[in-house]
Order: sequence, then C-alpha cells, then structure tokens
Amino acid sequence: MNGIVKTSDHPTIPFIEGDGIGPEIWHAAQIVFDAAVKKAYQGTRKVEWIPLMAGEAAFEQTGQWLPDETLQALRDNLVAIKGPLTTPIGQGHRSINVTLRQKLDLYACFRPVTYYPGTPSPVTHPERVNIDVFRENTEDIYAGIEADIGSNEADEIKKLLATQGQLEKVRFPDTAAFAVKPVSSEGSKRLVKAALEYALANDRHTLTLVHKGNIMKKTEGGFKKWGYELAQEEYADQIFTMPEYDKIKSAEGNEAADKALNEAKRNGKIIINDVITDNFFQQALLFPEHFEVVATMNLNGDYISDALAAQVGGIGIAPGGNINYQTGHAIFEATHGTAPQFAGQNKLNPTSIILSGTMMFDYLGWPEVANLIRSSIRNAIENKHVTEDFATSSEADVLSTSGFGEYIAEHL
Ligand code: NAD
Repeated sequence: MNGIVKTSDHPTIPFIEGDGIGPEIWHAAQIVFDAAVKKAYQGTRKVEWIPLMAGEAAFEQTGQWLPDETLQALRDNLVAIKGPLTTPIGQGHRSINVTLRQKLDLYACFRPVTYYPGTPSPVTHPERVNIDVFRENTEDIYAGIEADIGSNEADEIKKLLATQGQLEKVRFPDTAAFAVKPVSSEGSKRLVKAALEYALANDRHTLTLVHKGNIMKKTEGGFKKWGYELAQEEYADQIFTMPEYDKIKSAEGNEAADKALNEAKRNGKIIINDVITDNFFQQALLFPEHFEVVATMNLNGDYISDALAAQVGGIGIAPGGNINYQTGHAIFEATHGTAPQFAGQNKLNPTSIILSGTMMFDYLGWPEVANLIRSSIRNAIENKHVTEDFATSSEADVLSTSGFGEYIAEHL
C-alpha cells in the first residue's frame, strides 16, 4: 500500500489523541514521527499535526462525542491518525469508531500482523506469523440493526418471518432479540479487491477468504462466492483459485490439478483459497505460515485480528488502518482500547499507535520514515528496551510510555 495517496512535502494531518491512555501514547508517537521525518528528509519535509476533538473530551466541551467539525475535518483531509476512544455507554449510543468507519465509508480495515523478535508471545514459533488481515469494515452484523426482546421491531420481524414460513426456525420467538446481517456482493468485492491489490503489490503469494459459508450460506457463503468472482472477473491473468484446481481435478485427476497449481505458483500468480472460520483459527495456531493475506467479513475479522495479534505479543503492538481505497480516505489507529484503569500512569505500550503511524507514512508514500521507525522498534525490542508489558526478564530496561517514545526517536 505504498504511496496510495500522494502528498505534499508539508502535509497537514489531523490527529485525535483519544481517551484513557490515548494522550500518553499519542504524545510518545508524535515525538517519534517528527524525529523520523526530520531524519529521513533533513528538514525538506515536515508534518503539520492538527488536533481534532472526539470522545470524552469532546463530549465534556461540546455535548457531542463526535463533533461535526471533527467529521468535516476528517472529510476534508484524506489521511488522519487516532488513539482509542471510549464507547459511550447507554441506549442509542454507538461506538465512535464504528460511526467514523461508516460515515467515511472506510470499508477496509487493514491489520498487518508481524512478529518483532524479542516480543513475549504465548506460542512457540511466533516468527511464523506474518499475516495481513483485510477485514470488511462497513457491513455484517456491525451494521447495528438490532431489535430488542419484546420490542415493536422484534414483533415486526416475527410477522415478516411468519409470512415467509420461517418463524418456526426461531427456537424461542417470545424471548428472542434479533439482529440483521447485511453482506453485499458490492461490499464483499471491493474488500477482496483491496486485499488482492495489496497481495499483488507486496509480493505476497496467497490470499485466503475466511468465512462461515457452510452455515450462513447466503451471507458468508456469498462473500466467498463474490470474492472468487471478483478475482476471476478482474484478475484472471494474475491469479489461480482453488475452485479452478478442483475443476481440473474432477475432469483430469490429481496430477493435472497439481501440475496446474505448481505452474501458477512458478508464474508468480496469487493462489486464492478459502477456509471456514473455525478451521482458520485452528490452522492459524498450528500452521500460521500457511497464511499470507486474509480477507474476511467484519465480525470474523474482529476476532481474527485480535487472536493473531495475541500470537505476536498482544494488542499493545498491533497496528491498523481503516481505508477507503476509492476516495483515498484513511484513518490509522491503535487497535487496542482506552485501557482507562492505566490512564495517567505513563506505563503502557505506545507501539500500536507508532506502528499505525508507519502504515500511514507508507500510505502517504514516505516509506523512508516508516522503515526508520520500524527498524528502531525492532532494535529496541530485540535489545530489551521495552515497556513493562514486554519486560519478561530481569535484564530488561523497563521504560515508561514517554520513555519508550524518546528511546525510539533517539535511536532511529
Ligand atoms: P482495552 O484494549 O482498552 O484494554 C484491555 C487490556 O489490554 C488492558 O487492560 C491492558 O491490559 C491491555 N492493553 C490495552 N492497551 C494496551 C497498550 N497500549 N499496552 C499494553 N497493554 C494494553 O479494552 P477494554 O478495556 O475492553 O476497553 C476500554 C474502552 O476502550 C471501552 O470503552 C471500549 O469500547 C474502548 N475501545 C476502543 C477501541 C478503539 O478506539 N479503537 C478499541 C477497543 C475498545
């Protein structure tokens, strides 16, 4: 995703500090970003950061969790970065993150999961994990269409189901709440296209569609079907799919199918396969090296990206970006939450937001900055200059949030 959006030498980039630990991790990250830009371009390029309000601070000052001016600024500036935001509690409140993704139609949630040597991990071979997750970000059960138990909406849904002869499928209709799961061919195809474009541009060899289409045949099964369709319609010369493999196998036998697959690999084609979600979780723990780029729907992607992040050290080091590859709008963000119980302690790990920044610089076509930061983080972790969460031995040099940022900036 290098250079998706071209920028001037002096871009303005809005940022939202976020709630809880947000201001601390943002402050640490900003020091790193400015130092890396300075080092990479010797003063010929510089970012002007524009603070935007959202979350608790915004609510206290304006009565709005996501002020209109913030949304407008995010519309006007293609690229932004944010810390975590509290999800307001109470009826009628939606997650600000989900709202942002929907308002700006940031349909691809891109989360690269990479292991940095020295990071404590619960698995024996975390270095085998190198998986780029593309999660559909605007549809699925996240659309937020729900009907509460005993509500008028639930009654209407039951009436509709009764007219379709489907109410008997609801085990306890009188005490059921309902949710709607929209998954479209359009939404699925644009997400799979983003994943495929990424795989082609970044020398990845396999794209896996993860779905639960064996049970949810129309929605998740549709995602798989439309994903393969998109690949055949637009990328026929550059891909080889497992349905093609199966077709050759049933017509000409195993040997012919293997031959076609090997030839496709030799010719540098992207191999597209699919796997059922539960099996994916098992395979990703046992054989993570089998997966390179993953495309999936919203809820699966949420679970998958956190589970994979845990394999390489947890959400403290997991970056992400929410992107619309058609308009160019993108918001890069720490994938963890506000960790309110640690707010103000200057203790947690700012790596997630710093690495999200490296994704942002890649996206802007400033890879020199991204590479400097990544290698400084790699060296720091390998040499045990880490925040408390990564300090597993007594030899570790335990740094505060701001101390870690300063260390990375000083060792670029
Ligand atoms: P959380 O991610 O804030 O914290 C869970 C635990 O993860 C923490 O207790 C801490 O042990 C660990 N952790 C989190 N960030 C860390 C970091 N930078 N370094 C090291 N360890 C870290 O999840 P939560 O407690 O479920 O959610 C708190 C709030 O954050 C809620 O309001 C939730 O809705 C919101 N949230 C926001 C986002 C977002 O803005 N993208 C994402 C998830 C949750």
